[in-house]
Amino acid sequence: MSDLPPAVRRTIMTIFDNAFRNKKENLAKLEIMLRNHLNPLENGVCVRNQVLDCNKVPMSFTKSGNDDQSACNACLNRRRPCVRLIRRNGAVHLALYPLHVDYRAGASWKDLDFWIRRDDVA
Ligand SMILES: [Zn+2]
Repeated sequence: MSDLPPAVRRTIMTIFDNAFRNKKENLAKLEIMLRNHLNPLENGVCVRNQVLDCNKVPMSFTKSGNDDQSACNACLNRRRPCVRLIRRNGAVHLALYPLHVDYRAGASWKDLDFWIRRDDVA
């Protein structure tokens, strides 16, 4: 994330933050997720699924050839960043997952279109 161009990073963070700003309930749920160190590979939900949909619908990747290293169906459909908790070197991090290559519109990883689906990309 920190390697991304500032404008792209800002846009992704703004979309992500909007889900939590002025919504104490959502923020509290995210804090619980972080505190419990839920691992998406263990519980199969991304932050959006867990917090915004108020349920624990497992992520689905049928639109991305079942590639679970790409953004989940729900984030893809709603044009949101797919953010999950991952564990690395013993610490828990928020990780941003890229769109499946079919939805990137040829963008490179430094472009917003690599991470959030454009309106005109089916
Ligand atoms: Zn997702």
